[in-house]
Amino acid sequence: MYDVSRRSVFMTAAGAASVFGLSRPIELIGSALAQNAAGTPKAFHKFKVGDIEVTTVYDGLWEKPHAPNFAKNASLDEVKAALIAGGLTDAYVPVPFTVTIVKVGGRTIMFDSGTGGQFPPAGQGKAGLLLESNLKAAGIDPASITTILVTHYHPDHIWGLMAKETNAQIYPNAEIIVPASEHKFWTDASVFTKLPEAAHGLPKRIQATLPTWKNVRLVEDNVEVVPGIRSVGTNGHTPGHTSYIVSSGAQQLFVTGDVTNIPALNMRHPGMNLVLDTDSAMAEASRRRIFERAVAEKAVLTGYHWGIPGAGTIAKDGAGYALVSVA
Ligand SMILES: [Zn+2]
Repeated sequence: MYDVSRRSVFMTAAGAASVFGLSRPIELIGSALAQNAAGTPKAFHKFKVGDIEVTTVYDGLWEKPHAPNFAKNASLDEVKAALIAGGLTDAYVPVPFTVTIVKVGGRTIMFDSGTGGQFPPAGQGKAGLLLESNLKAAGIDPASITTILVTHYHPDHIWGLMAKETNAQIYPNAEIIVPASEHKFWTDASVFTKLPEAAHGLPKRIQATLPTWKNVRLVEDNVEVVPGIRSVGTNGHTPGHTSYIVSSGAQQLFVTGDVTNIPALNMRHPGMNLVLDTDSAMAEASRRRIFERAVAEKAVLTGYHWGIPGAGTIAKDGAGYALVSVA
């Protein structure tokens, strides 16, 4: 049901370039090159959007083992074909973690926090703990981070906020800004009746940490959360999943979190509904809405699972979209 023709291979090279840390889009990526590039990803990438200094920082690659139900409306063979068409391996789903950092108005603002080396769980593939060393490589002192904006409460996005054994804060001096709707979902007692028991570990840990921290601020949808940055609801991946728009004059950076997973899957195929999304229909509608807006407004986007550079403009590509990486 998904078009993974040779034309797709050609058109998705930009997305593949971003996943593999190439410095710019190329028209066709050979699998041998892809494997080499995947083995030596860049630690970070710096670029500007207007006056905004943007750095994307790599926090490792999750070699996610295949699961037959990973896409709700596509077979495992179709998922593998989409990976191959994107220039990726099909031995597993290669899911990078990438943190976006901007410097605006004297603040250093980080979006989400990396995995803290605590994700994925044992036995579900390997990842890494690269954020700390790659921040250093990028010349960013973690102590200089004034503000952390959170897109949603999945482990790979918030466990970098808390120490493994003690849950102690990693960034006690930063203001942590979170979507109110996301916070409410995970901290309400009803979450335990909404999720199967095997999934209760996440809300338990959330409830033991974020609501007790004094430096957490809840923000509503579609408000200016700090000067120059607005929240925009992109719900569906989780109930309160939120993106952020950083503005510099007419130039905009959309930090889209998990609006998509890797570009070769649900950016190229926006109707491919992955099991990672809580509400597939809502997630797909949010994805299409923000991509259409990004195309119309010529915004630059970053995505948490887009690798390095992990940023670019979005181009319509048949029934889907392609990422045209920043230089
Ligand atoms: Zn994620």
